[in-house]
Amino acid sequence: MAKLDFDLPKLGPNLEIPVLQPDAMRGVGPYVAKPDHQAPLGFPGELVDDWHDVAIAKMGELLGKYRSFKVYLDSCVKCGACTDKCHYFLGTGDPKNMPVARQDLLRSVYRRHFTLAGKYFPKLVGARDLTKEVLDDWYNYFHQCSQCRRCSVFCPYGIDTAEISMAARDIMDAVGKGQKYCNEIIGKVHKIGNNLGLPEPALLDTLAGLEEDIEEETGVAVRLPVDVHGAEVMLVTPSADFFAEPHIDGLIGYAKVFHQAGISWTLSSYASEAANFGMFIGNYENMRKVSLRIRQAALDLGVKRIVFGECGHAWRVAYSFLNTLAGPFDFLDSRYPVPQHICEVTHDLIQRGALTLDPSVNDDKVVTFHDSCNVARASRMGNLPGGQFEIPRAVIRAAVNHFVDMADETIRDRTFCCGGGGGLLTDDLMELRAKGAMPRMQALQQVVEEHGVTHMAAICAICKSQFSKVLPMYGLPMHMIVSVHQLVGDAIQLGTKD
Ligand code: SF4
Ligand code: SF4
Repeated sequence: MAKLDFDLPKLGPNLEIPVLQPDAMRGVGPYVAKPDHQAPLGFPGELVDDWHDVAIAKMGELLGKYRSFKVYLDSCVKCGACTDKCHYFLGTGDPKNMPVARQDLLRSVYRRHFTLAGKYFPKLVGARDLTKEVLDDWYNYFHQCSQCRRCSVFCPYGIDTAEISMAARDIMDAVGKGQKYCNEIIGKVHKIGNNLGLPEPALLDTLAGLEEDIEEETGVAVRLPVDVHGAEVMLVTPSADFFAEPHIDGLIGYAKVFHQAGISWTLSSYASEAANFGMFIGNYENMRKVSLRIRQAALDLGVKRIVFGECGHAWRVAYSFLNTLAGPFDFLDSRYPVPQHICEVTHDLIQRGALTLDPSVNDDKVVTFHDSCNVARASRMGNLPGGQFEIPRAVIRAAVNHFVDMADETIRDRTFCCGGGGGLLTDDLMELRAKGAMPRMQALQQVVEEHGVTHMAAICAICKSQFSKVLPMYGLPMHMIVSVHQLVGDAIQLGTKD
């Protein structure tokens, strides 16, 4: 591995609260969007002349629209419970990465312009003007929040820093200071249908090649169909599943599940992306526009069910917002939830005996599971509380004989972010990503040492890409990270029920 140009935190036996390093990450921010990344999303191309007034007006608009935003800004009592809960603070030591301090970057301006005390006695209530320097701090530190919501679990008032970071990014887009990585990607989805900008012929070629690979390996013709009219299921999956490792093995796993269960299914070339970065930039209109492609594709193909593949934030948008953004979905089969997660589908099939799995195929592995933030803290699966924790674990346990959980305080609703979520999975933020991964790496290292864990499974495209990068930085093998449906796909005994 190439030498890093920054120091990584050391992995100790326990997670330590770091020594404070004020402003350590102050100058660290992602590339700013260029005019041609901004325009397709409806944002000004560059910082507008009257940016201060536009920003304050936009803040006022959001305060009127989202009651939660105002409540979060008004209700912090500075109890400090959140201060050591953010992986970016733990990994960087920069006090502005404490959730309360991150919130205060925006709260101070809110107080100045939207509270009486802040207007007349700004110093007394920590109110300040929105200067260029403050805007730069907003840009950098609101792009050092992966919107993972871990801090909100520990806040006695449930203050959600992710919502504040989304609002900040929405305000910055409105004044022409957007983030290149997210906005360029959203533009590709609007134009072509997926984050990669992969056109239909390339998608068809890729999938045809994969079908050949599966048949060569298994001797069974498992299909990866596209644009099949009248299929029962339309699978919407992250485009990383079409080309990246280990994502692609997850896609093969979904295909094997549908194949063995005899469920007709299709991908859509029009809605060839589950990810919805509109959420990361906090922009309702763009999130809705991306969601509407899924509705349109389902209508055009005449499918009966919509199933989402392994993607964390996509599942949050799908589970929590899809019906509001793009519903009603009254044209789908009402016997199934709209939408469904692929883990729910596989779990249900396993319970009904519709899949034959041989977990001994995976006996070379001791597996742990990384709960992805947006699934764990912003969605659910199945009909029972906590289904989002139990269902993926039940699927893994059906596919492997050796499963071990990481430390309690680092899993389920207290899971640590991979370090690359929330629109931060870009090489221009590699230092932040690497340092922010430390708490998860520490917990993983512990089960490697104590239980011989060899693999970590995940159900999020971002987590998989992020771990592929940062595992080697911490001396762990890159191939440790696997898709949950890779384990399922390897364990399925094709031919036994076909
Ligand atoms: S939402 Fe996550 S990344 Fe953002 S401040 Fe809270 S813990 Fe940190
Ligand atoms: S835990 Fe909640 S109330 Fe306490 S300081 Fe953090 S955000 Fe404020």
